[in-house]
Amino acid sequence: MDEVRDVLVRDGRIEAVARGVAGPEGIPRIDAQGLVVAPGLIDVHVHLREPGAEHKETIRTGARSAAAGGFTTIWAMPNTDPPLDDPAAVGFVREEARRWARQGEGGARVSPVAAASLGLAGRQMTEIGGLVEAGAVAVTDDGHPIHDPALMRRLLEYTQSFGIPVLQHAEDMALSAGGVMNEGAVATALGLRGIPNASEATVVARDIYLAELTGGHVHVQHVSTREAVELIRLAHERGVRVSGEASPHHMALTEEAVRGYRTEAKMNPPLRSEADRRAVRQGLIDGVLECVATDHAPHHYEEKEREFDDAPFGIVGLETALAVCIGELVTPGDLPLFDLIERMSAAPARLMGIEGGTLRPGSRADLVLFDPEEAWTVDPANFRSKSRNTPFGGWEVTGRVKRTIVGGETRYAEGG
Ligand SMILES: [Zn+2]
Repeated sequence: MDEVRDVLVRDGRIEAVARGVAGPEGIPRIDAQGLVVAPGLIDVHVHLREPGAEHKETIRTGARSAAAGGFTTIWAMPNTDPPLDDPAAVGFVREEARRWARQGEGGARVSPVAAASLGLAGRQMTEIGGLVEAGAVAVTDDGHPIHDPALMRRLLEYTQSFGIPVLQHAEDMALSAGGVMNEGAVATALGLRGIPNASEATVVARDIYLAELTGGHVHVQHVSTREAVELIRLAHERGVRVSGEASPHHMALTEEAVRGYRTEAKMNPPLRSEADRRAVRQGLIDGVLECVATDHAPHHYEEKEREFDDAPFGIVGLETALAVCIGELVTPGDLPLFDLIERMSAAPARLMGIEGGTLRPGSRADLVLFDPEEAWTVDPANFRSKSRNTPFGGWEVTGRVKRTIVGGETRYAEGG
């Protein structure tokens, strides 16, 4: 919608969206003049680090970081310590987020994603039924790929009865072994071991055939290569249930960001070539990659300060995603703002079969209010996240989240 309207919220749900809604007496009013009011953003790929690495992030700080970025729902990855491979661990993540919300310290809704294999070891499938019952919305071994094709086949067969997708971190560990950045001229110049595009593309190709064989839904996380975009495009033409996500950093940056051995640009999959960046960006614009996901991966300052080879992979992304995407896609005129919001809310909801992504009366009042034109400078010191590892520090960006509302309750307000 692209009009001036009032949104009436009652009991956590949207009651009406119309011009001049006369809300009953006593209902608080929020003036959204000049702001975009959109369905809350949804990020299906977030690392919260709890349990096991609470010095990097907790469920509470991650959910609050998400709300500050305009997200009302985030999916928490299972590669914690211990991993989310049993119903108790899955239930803990969901309940912990709810507990903080009850105490007035909540942020975005947190949906746990369960491990696909016990211990993320890639051998034995987890008990998916019990995990779904405990609240798991999908399965993945993210951080690692699901490497064994027979295990992947069984996962794609088995998840169908629960209506959930298998999320895949597509990486051939034999091809990427020892790699710390993209394979190419920059890696050669820096004397660093590279990860070839084929490491991602070969696994995506294999998984597409397995999805075709089984009828299951495979979702490719953080697509980084032009080859993978092309494979997904061709698979869509055949009607295969494969989907993909684009991360803001793969659309905004290339391997050049690693020069100077900048560990804040070290991530997996790595930042690729300019041709890859363009392909991922175009994939999102065309809808081949259905949604944006941040792969928010908090790391402690001291760990990122190590030598490039030894520093951990990953960057935080929840609080910069909207502005970076506006700058990369909307400002140059390649994607209307309405469509960007669709890729960040309605599309992930529809794709994954979850609530959200709409302002229809009767739906949950999960909303983001933002100024699409306000310019600001990214200062990691102001992040709500416990971690500061971002390559966007100091960037001049456009688009500022003003308020995030979850179930009718304000969970973030600028300056609040
Ligand atoms: Zn991953």
